[in-house]
Amino acid sequence: MSGRQENRQSKKALIVGSGIAGLASAIRLRRLGFDVEVFEKNAYPGGKLTSFKLGAYHFDAGPSLFTMPHLVEELLEKNILEYVKSETACHYFWEDDTVIKFPADIKQLINEVPKQLNVAAEPLKKHFERSKYIYDKTHKVFIERSLHKLNFNLDLIKAIIAIPKLFIFNTMHRVNKRKLNHPKLVQIFDRYATYNGSSPYLAPGILNIIPHLEHGIGTFFPTNGMQAITDVLVKEATELGVVFHYNQKVEKIIVQSKICKGLETNDSIFKGEIVVCNSDIKPAYNYLLKGEKKPKKTMEQEPSSSALIFYWGIDKKFEELDLHNILFSENYEQEFEAIFKDKTIYEDPTVYIHVSSKIVKNSAPLNGENWFVMINVPYNSGQDWEKLREKARKYILEKINRILKTDIEKHIVCEDYLDPIRIEERTSSFGGALYGASSNDRMAAFFRHPNFSKVKGLYFVGGSVHPGGGIPLCLNSAKIACEIIAKDF
Ligand code: FAD
Repeated sequence: MSGRQENRQSKKALIVGSGIAGLASAIRLRRLGFDVEVFEKNAYPGGKLTSFKLGAYHFDAGPSLFTMPHLVEELLEKNILEYVKSETACHYFWEDDTVIKFPADIKQLINEVPKQLNVAAEPLKKHFERSKYIYDKTHKVFIERSLHKLNFNLDLIKAIIAIPKLFIFNTMHRVNKRKLNHPKLVQIFDRYATYNGSSPYLAPGILNIIPHLEHGIGTFFPTNGMQAITDVLVKEATELGVVFHYNQKVEKIIVQSKICKGLETNDSIFKGEIVVCNSDIKPAYNYLLKGEKKPKKTMEQEPSSSALIFYWGIDKKFEELDLHNILFSENYEQEFEAIFKDKTIYEDPTVYIHVSSKIVKNSAPLNGENWFVMINVPYNSGQDWEKLREKARKYILEKINRILKTDIEKHIVCEDYLDPIRIEERTSSFGGALYGASSNDRMAAFFRHPNFSKVKGLYFVGGSVHPGGGIPLCLNSAKIACEIIAKDF
């Protein structure tokens, strides 16, 4: 560290939570020369990005899709994250026995998939071009910078000029229906709205940026499972001298006359000039910052969807399955209405099956697989989750049996589950929402909380603030916050 950075070491940065954004902030701030301490209420780091063992099976508990690995790599100087690039993005299944093995590579995809569906390739090609166009015009302004501190520069001018072609004023589904020439393609591309917990029937068409991330930039998977991302960041942070306090719930962020002074945990008081809050923004204002004025628009935003997951140890190998698999609902629109309007589960849910043992050695016995079986569900607003879980399990089993022509229950040797209540308990996410606020409102991006605040020394990172949920955006939130901190201090 340089002499200038050494001087800064007297300044202390305290981080509330060790989610992916908290870990990335810890590494960045330590490199800027701050003394960094992380306070985590759980006994383990990573928040949603964690894993567990059940008998002979090992499961990634939360995220399973890994895009933009360079955002992790740029945090690592001493350690390496090992991962592979996927050749296939996903296996899609329908009730009419159609199976599409969707290649990750765009050229291969455009060459193969339209032939299988007996449609022209041009609309699909154009769709990917539009996706790249949205990415090129917006990522520097909306994803990599603070939306709330925009500089009037060339990137912003380009984004403003591009607005008519960003499909902000149409829903994602309407755009996809108009532009793509087969209902199955529409359903595949509509699904990308779920990558940030939204409905394609409500979210704006600008979300069509997501296919470019998965296919244009690529889809990847850590060879030791998703937990490896958390592990490598904790290792890097620890080697840099970041101090971790586990089982330390932060009860209060101490603010005096609009200046941050530190925080109070269940154990003691810690002083510091900077607090980076990686806790969900709603509980942060409701419990940690009780005396501070709440940001009304942010607090009123509709939460994103949550998830119901069954982790099943399976005693059989299913060759037709890949790392990521989707068994589509027959009526996608009704499914999203059930989730976002009726706030319940749908009787014919789209089922996602993630089988990390296809890649991660020793995560299942030789003749078995570790199934992570997930459906999208509403955030918790007081539903009877025990009842819903029971119903959902039945619907999921029936769907899998119909499509994979099996009797899957016979092959389940061990089982656990995650539902919105457990997600909220374990990570403090409001209502167990996976991605903070949904993007169902065209203005949602503007109402997300900025990465800074009106309190000097207080910053926010993670899936519930700008630029949004999901691993890449959370990592960007840390980058933006730390750039602001570097300027402020
Ligand atoms: P979080 O993971 O939310 O962690 C916050 C941490 O802060 C927790 O450890 C919590 O205990 C701690 N904390 C909170 N309050 C306090 C307090 N008061 N005191 C001390 N500690 C506190 N993203 C993808 O990119 N790809 C996917 O495939 C994907 N799938 C997902 C599937 C599931 C089931 C889930 C749950 C999420 C998924 N996501 C996915 C979303 C992704 O996991 C999250 O956006 C991201 O991990 C959130 O990181 P974060 O930094 O916001 O922190």
